[in-house]
Amino acid sequence: MAEQADIRPDAETTRCGFVAVIGAPNAGKSTLLNRIIGSKIAIVTPKAQTTRSRALGIWTGGATQIAFVDTPGIFAPKRRLDKAMVSAAWQAAADADVALALIDAERALHAGAGGFAGMAEMLEKLAAAGGKPILVLNKIDKVARADLLPLIDRLDKTGQVDRTFLVSALTGDGVEDLLAHLAAAMPEGPWLYPEDQLSDISDRLLAAEITREKLFLNLHDELPYGLTVETEIWEPHKDGSLRIGQVIHVARAGHKGIVLGKGGSMVKRVGSAAREELSGLLGCKVHLSLFVRVTENWMDQRQHYEPWGLEFNV
Ligand code: GDP
Ligand code: MG
Repeated sequence: MAEQADIRPDAETTRCGFVAVIGAPNAGKSTLLNRIIGSKIAIVTPKAQTTRSRALGIWTGGATQIAFVDTPGIFAPKRRLDKAMVSAAWQAAADADVALALIDAERALHAGAGGFAGMAEMLEKLAAAGGKPILVLNKIDKVARADLLPLIDRLDKTGQVDRTFLVSALTGDGVEDLLAHLAAAMPEGPWLYPEDQLSDISDRLLAAEITREKLFLNLHDELPYGLTVETEIWEPHKDGSLRIGQVIHVARAGHKGIVLGKGGSMVKRVGSAAREELSGLLGCKVHLSLFVRVTENWMDQRQHYEPWGLEFNV
């Protein structure tokens, strides 16, 4: 991180640190971050591996600032993009002051021996990378607490867990306790970001991510994983409105028609959902144009990795 002078003039003892949020795809990492920050900084969908970037969500309370690092999930990577995503997640854990190991409690309850071994391995790797993680069992709105006790006990017995918290990122249950604990655990030091900054993600990238989220929500199967969205035009107008032009890169010619839909109906639906959300987030009228382009090898082009802070060569 860049060195920066303390921007809090009347600082007594300020604290500031990084917390990496690590877990399998769909564990609820992005939902937890949006809940803590209180604003949408990461896209959330029911599909696995939606998050591609290493977005920072910045929380400031009292004398403490915490920069949360949302990460793409931990999974077995095959494609170049997947490898870059998983590698970014482990790197974030190694760099952070504290790592949260986020686990979907409902899924964990029904995981067999293999599933448990996977969780134990994640905890062990995190402990080795940067110290024992804090175990966060999420989605407790879907399970009975009593059912979780044996699981907590088993995970604790791995000896790789610092503490355990039970939360629901969706309802906010337990999140305050977790936050209070994290705040106290941050090292003393100057804040790195202004008090009102919520994220390090640029408006252009956020806009591209919002459109990508709508594509994920509207398209089926594997298609959303094979596309990317790039913001090419960003034109504030005198009347206070904003013109945004985005390209949806699809990897196969056959996908273009699906993204466009019959008579352009699909891209129209995606565009109006994205436009509506963007106007709300940016607080102005948005004119959004979407272009669908076949870029067969976008996944092998460096320029598509950089906006997400991903390393290209892994
Ligand atoms: P990520 O892949 O770990 O970032 O997971 P997301 O935050 O994208 O969430 C994956 C799915 O789980 C979404 O459909 C969320 O709405 C859902 N989800 C996340 N947290 C909770 C929770 O605490 N309770 C319930 N019931 N659903 C949740
Ligand atoms: Mg996510």
